[in-house]
Amino acid sequence: MPRLSSVAPVPAAAVATEAPARRKGEPQPAERFALTVDKSPIDGLGVFAAEPIPARLKIGEMRGEIVPVREARRRIEGRRRIHVVEVTDKTAIDATKSDCALRHVNHSCAPNAVLRIRQGRAEFYAIRDIAPGEEICADYGESHHEGRLRCRCGAPNCKGRL
Ligand SMILES: [Zn+2]
Repeated sequence: MPRLSSVAPVPAAAVATEAPARRKGEPQPAERFALTVDKSPIDGLGVFAAEPIPARLKIGEMRGEIVPVREARRRIEGRRRIHVVEVTDKTAIDATKSDCALRHVNHSCAPNAVLRIRQGRAEFYAIRDIAPGEEICADYGESHHEGRLRCRCGAPNCKGRL
């Protein structure tokens, strides 16, 4: 019996750009525009536009495991980087183990995108035209960090803390 070799993970960019034409009833892709995940000047990994994204359009959504809020809060305790969004009073999306590119959207005090919670989904929309190569950022407002983290977004109006 030959031993099974491990399967290399598919890069998020390849998933985003090679989405095949969908038939009616098939699930929407998580990303509506070509995105790349790369090292961010703000923090860790970030998401970058790989094509122009016009203002107001939906960029995509963050997908992951649906978990109870209480479980989600337990999981993020003490973590520096989190990929969890609470979408209702009772449920949260934990994208920690997801391959979804949009889980890497960093916070900025001068964001070019906004996170909207709609019908239990965590959706990102462009709030202005975004050029290829720009990092996609959203203002997460009051995060679970509760002001303990220094913000490194670099915006002139940076509030300084997360
Ligand atoms: Zn900032």
